[in-house]
Amino acid sequence: MNCLICSAPFLEAPSWQRLFTMKQSETTCEKCKSKFEKATDKEHETDWIGTIYEGALDSLTSIYSYNMWMKQVYQQYKFQHDVELAKVFAADFSHLKKNKNLIVPIPLHQDMLKSRTFSQVDQLLLAARVPFTQVLTKITNSSQIKKSKKERIESEINYSVCADVQSQTILLVDDLYTTGTTLRHIAFILKEAGAQEVNAITLIRA
Ligand SMILES: [Zn+2]
Repeated sequence: MNCLICSAPFLEAPSWQRLFTMKQSETTCEKCKSKFEKATDKEHETDWIGTIYEGALDSLTSIYSYNMWMKQVYQQYKFQHDVELAKVFAADFSHLKKNKNLIVPIPLHQDMLKSRTFSQVDQLLLAARVPFTQVLTKITNSSQIKKSKKERIESEINYSVCADVQSQTILLVDDLYTTGTTLRHIAFILKEAGAQEVNAITLIRA
């Protein structure tokens, strides 16, 4: 078996052992695996106090930190259309199969989808065999010129809810967490649409 990141051959645990632990096949060698760093929880909630997004997101979990190694792997995944790399992180998301929340990936804009050919968040969930539901659509931002302040704020809301989410408990899934604005914005509109609880998990936290 060859490592999906560095292509070096490596020895896998015997198949009976994988069967016993119900683990998916290994995709990554120990050397590559050891360079990933688990994310340490940083509290950013205070940044949102007094804004419309205060309390919109009920919880946030991130799996890995955005260290140099992750940057390299992630860039390869995101821009070189390396769908195979989604398998590297499949094990990190497979526990979501048992999650009772409605699993909702953050969608890519349709134009982006054309140029990228696939949505990396969907690929992560597909590789982990986690069922998901698409309840969001991304809408194009029209020009900000000649708009009132109120219209400008409303046009920043560039996602819309396209399914019934009344009383639902939702788990948003995204690949990279940077400022957190997108996730909070989406949590906000989901709650406006009647969602009871909105949690989020991201692969990486910058
Ligand atoms: Zn490797």
